[in-house]
Amino acid sequence: MKPESLMMSYGYKPELSEGAIKCPIFQTSTFVFKSAEEGKAFFEVAYGHRQKNEGEELGLIYSRINNPDLEILENRLTLWEGAEDCAVFESGMSAITTVLLEFLKPGDLLLISNPLYGGSDHFIKKILPKFDINIAEFRVGQAKEEVIKIIESSGCADKLALIYIETPANPTNDLIDISCSKEIAKQFSTNDREVYLAVDNTYMGPIWQHPLKHGADLVLYSATKYIGGHSDVIAGACLGSSDLIKRVKGLRTFLGNMASPNTGWLLLRSLETLKARMDIQASNAVKVAEFLSKHPLVEKVYYPGNLTESDGEQYNIKIRQCITNGGMISFDVKGSESEAFKFLNALKLIKLAVSLGSTESLAEHPATMTHSDVDAQLRKELHITEKMIRLSIGVENYEDIIWDINQALDSIGN
Ligand SMILES: *Cc1c(COP(=O)(O)O)cnc(C)c1O
Repeated sequence: MKPESLMMSYGYKPELSEGAIKCPIFQTSTFVFKSAEEGKAFFEVAYGHRQKNEGEELGLIYSRINNPDLEILENRLTLWEGAEDCAVFESGMSAITTVLLEFLKPGDLLLISNPLYGGSDHFIKKILPKFDINIAEFRVGQAKEEVIKIIESSGCADKLALIYIETPANPTNDLIDISCSKEIAKQFSTNDREVYLAVDNTYMGPIWQHPLKHGADLVLYSATKYIGGHSDVIAGACLGSSDLIKRVKGLRTFLGNMASPNTGWLLLRSLETLKARMDIQASNAVKVAEFLSKHPLVEKVYYPGNLTESDGEQYNIKIRQCITNGGMISFDVKGSESEAFKFLNALKLIKLAVSLGSTESLAEHPATMTHSDVDAQLRKELHITEKMIRLSIGVENYEDIIWDINQALDSIGN
């Protein structure tokens, strides 16, 4: 069956919870063992002192290690993209930073794409160097040969350990080729050292893009965004092979940044409507982008749906990688910061807030908000201009969203 048909039931046995149709919140720190022998057996598996026996599940021990709300959530999340395993976290940043810390060690080289989410960018450029990790960067649009040159000229190409990319890039919707990034990772891998590829797939969510199918080793999510989808919870997730997720969960146990039972329960509820919500968001976005593209006060629209064959490689990547055009649209108004601010201040239905992927439509000003920490020169080169607005399209009636945008654009002239 399709994942959306399984989101209400997969991995949950009502008979283990008094017949409750929904998984209760297992608000408990620890679990009672039936016997000392059972406790011993659970710990042997949890700490990797022996392999699981045929059909043996990891027993419930302590909520920093495992909890039913988290386990069921992790199992359901794997279904959308056919991942072997998943680890959930109390924020997207904790998922991302745990992966970076697990797969990098002092002296290693990390290759990143640009632009990255502000929090990831800060952790990579300001905190990882304290651990003696070297960073090399490439930009959207750079060809494979150029990226290889960047790695080779870093002086530590033989220490490349991880490639970390984000596509579509926030807020410009520029695309990065996942399979090409994997080819680069393979080229720098040796028999005793595999270079892994991690992809932050938050912008497309688990429905619209499946990085594992294009060669990614790890997929990361801010589950705060589309997966949570209601602007009421902060959470994160990482998916990949059993072997790699075992490492991620190992570090998570000792950092203690797993999701809480309550967060797990909220996300289980969100997953039931994930497909329905995202379908509406994607189809609303098509209508909004169409409207913006024709409006005389709009200078440029940044939306994968506007790519045509004349855009060359960007168009080809979109056709290969993206299942829809997504629900995020950025656009430049004619003018500058003051025109952009007039627009934002005039919105009535759409809320002026950062974050994305939620049921309600949101608008923000990347240059002075989400991306204000990006170096000014780099910001300019990445086309994150003073006149750019970023929209996250929600599930409202699209005619109302367009009505609101239209009246806010009208107000620029006043
Ligand atoms: C929001 C976001 C994050 C960080 O997630 P949190 O849940 O806020 O910690 C990481 N990457 C992207 C692309 C995001 O949009």
